[in-house]
Amino acid sequence: TLLIPELKNVESMQLRKQQHEWQESLDGQKMLEFRRSLPCYKKRDVILKAVSENQVVLVSGETGCGKTTQLPQYILESDIEMGTGTSISIICTQPRRMSAMTVSERVAAERGEKLGGSVGYKVRLDNMKGRNTQLLYCTTGILLRRLLCDRNLGGVTHVIIDEIHERGMNEDFLLVVLKDLLPRRPDLRLILMSATLDSMLFSSYFSGAPTIHIPGHTYPVRSHFLENILEKTRYRLTHHNQTDHFGHEKKWRIQSRGFGNKKTQITTSVEVCLEAASFKEYSLETRKSLTCWDPESLGFNLIEHVLCHIVLNERLGAILVFMMGWDDIMSLKNQLHMHPLLGDASRVMLLACHGSMASFEQELIFRAPSDGVRKIVLATNVAETSITINDVVFVIDCGKAKETSYDAVNNASCLLPSWISKAAVQQRRGRAGRVQPGECYHLYPRCVYETFFEYQLPEILRMPLESVCLQIKSLQLGNISEFLSRSLQAPEALPVANAIRYLKIIGALDEMENLTGLGHYLSVLPVEPKLGKMLIFGAIFGCLDPVMTIVASLCVRDPFMISHINKDLAIRAKSQFSTRDFSDHLPVVRAFNSWKYAEMQQFGDEYCHRNFLSVQTMKDIDSLRNQLFFVLKETGFADSNINQSNRFSHDEHIIRAIMCAGLFPGLCSIMNKQKNIMFKTVEDGLVSLCSSSLNAHEPSIPFPWSVFSGKWKSNAVFLLDSTAVSDSAILLFGGKISRGHTDGHLTMMDGYIDFFMEPAVVDMYLPLRKELDEVIRN
Ligand code: ADP
Ligand code: MG
Repeated sequence: TLLIPELKNVESMQLRKQQHEWQESLDGQKMLEFRRSLPCYKKRDVILKAVSENQVVLVSGETGCGKTTQLPQYILESDIEMGTGTSISIICTQPRRMSAMTVSERVAAERGEKLGGSVGYKVRLDNMKGRNTQLLYCTTGILLRRLLCDRNLGGVTHVIIDEIHERGMNEDFLLVVLKDLLPRRPDLRLILMSATLDSMLFSSYFSGAPTIHIPGHTYPVRSHFLENILEKTRYRLTHHNQTDHFGHEKKWRIQSRGFGNKKTQITTSVEVCLEAASFKEYSLETRKSLTCWDPESLGFNLIEHVLCHIVLNERLGAILVFMMGWDDIMSLKNQLHMHPLLGDASRVMLLACHGSMASFEQELIFRAPSDGVRKIVLATNVAETSITINDVVFVIDCGKAKETSYDAVNNASCLLPSWISKAAVQQRRGRAGRVQPGECYHLYPRCVYETFFEYQLPEILRMPLESVCLQIKSLQLGNISEFLSRSLQAPEALPVANAIRYLKIIGALDEMENLTGLGHYLSVLPVEPKLGKMLIFGAIFGCLDPVMTIVASLCVRDPFMISHINKDLAIRAKSQFSTRDFSDHLPVVRAFNSWKYAEMQQFGDEYCHRNFLSVQTMKDIDSLRNQLFFVLKETGFADSNINQSNRFSHDEHIIRAIMCAGLFPGLCSIMNKQKNIMFKTVEDGLVSLCSSSLNAHEPSIPFPWSVFSGKWKSNAVFLLDSTAVSDSAILLFGGKISRGHTDGHLTMMDGYIDFFMEPAVVDMYLPLRKELDEVIRN
């Protein structure tokens, strides 16, 4: 033990020597010059002084000004300058895995070091951290995990939370924990950084913490709203009074000034946008419930139209397109590949950018295209703040992002496209002015923009709270409601109560809100509780492999690429993987296994193309499966003898039962009404299936019950993927059960489900069930 500090000293001296040599070298000089040119550098001393004098400091500044890469380095360097050497330890959190990794790599390069020296990163299952690492970039989840075993963050001197404006669930949760920790650790420093920051809100939360603003150096960006775009591209948006058949006044009309046969094509998508034009008059409630853009068409034609316009008429420079989600990006990318102009690889370099992308693809995004080629990057809001593509001159902003919203009254959560905030619009616009003056095309009228919220609603106010409630319990932070009431913006009572009730139903909490054995493990697994429960049951009941595939695909996305353009063909391709037994989930397992086999024979990509499967999604599912297996092994659920965990993997009855264990209370009864299959759910009454579900076309129904993995709420509620499950599966695995009314109804979980089941059957299973419940609790 005596040797280790000495070794550490020697190593850190070497590091310092290296640092000195690097700064003397030509490359080092150049790098230093670059670093000093960043806007952040002018505020270096102000920042350092504020950090030394205040326990909490807020820092805001345009994206690219140097917050993430520079600010932590300033702290590190000032420590070295003062000669205190290795006494500090900085943790800087990033909302995404990808940014923690790329940023730390950049910072190490700026210091002429390899990763794992004074700079490192740590993300789930990946770790580049050395003995002398003093600046650690990690995900918010990693810091939370660290708090789990070390509640005082011993040894850490600075915690920096980056991109705080995103207001993810984890970040808001972390703030409460840190706020509690600060009085116990008066030497600890907390720095909150963001491009756009509601400084009043944060400052008052941390009793008047000072804000430092770093003025940016972006070039001016011109905004074009829909009306200007149409004008510029030969369409005119005119005022016009007419009432449509819903009684809504339509105030706009498009007039073509001649653009060949393009006219009809663009009119359809623009019409949808125009729905939005009269949006201002709707109340907030209506606005929330309306999804005026069909997510599948999302004005794709309009995007295509604007892209052509830029490629043909505007000066050189990369184009960044902000879209709603990965699915849209993939559909548009496929569509554009067939386009005579935009699909021409000698003129256009078409790339996609997404948070969970493989690193080799990432690099292409940052690379300059060859001469005369226009780079077009289709991105989700990852490209808003965390990563910077320097040569962007044009931004196309669709104005929407897919946002999970949770409706506490119906206890339903839905992934809905919704308008972004004004702050996000400003961010997106700013991306066009990195290297020269830029242009930003907003695909919505200015009057719609005026109705946007200033800042986005934080996740804690719009997402189900199950995971966070579980976390509060596993970190032993006391009463759930009390803890949540102390967050930056506290959620209302109903969603909190729903979450607690749900956790009790699935057996994660007992009646006194104490964590059960199951609850403990669910809090360790890196997926939502319902999927965690599915994994644990899958491992216990020997069908881990297929269950991991199902869970991974539910986390990642559906590997079948079904969009409005190819619907019939794609559904036919998907149904090849079905054995017509009423399941949307089992075909995914079969498709994955076949792909895996094809991949081993070196024709995985081709296999995907032939079967309307997404190569990227398959790879993502594969890598998540590996991660899940690793965690399950660590927690002792998966046997390292993989056969043991898979002894029933071929038995689809058991797999269905395991799905029931996880997805319950997402249960409904199947009603076959003259060829039309309907579902009776508790909350929504009779609902139908989403048209991409295979079960919408299924002739045989093996059981009268079905579990479902999600709902889609637009004008009506639709069930997403569903799988039929047997009576016995429900009785054995489906949440809390008690024998209800005397007339043979079975009541489960406080009247949640009240369907008829033969009393004799129920009585047969109840004793067995009791035993099983006992095992789970412990
Ligand atoms: P902020 O966090 O304020 O948005 P960053 O610290 O991420 O800014 O980046 C500061 C500057 O460093 C950027 O403007 C960019 O020029 C440069 N930079 C950041 N990451 C990289 C990278 N991976 N490769 C090259 N340059 C980078
Ligand atoms: Mg940053």
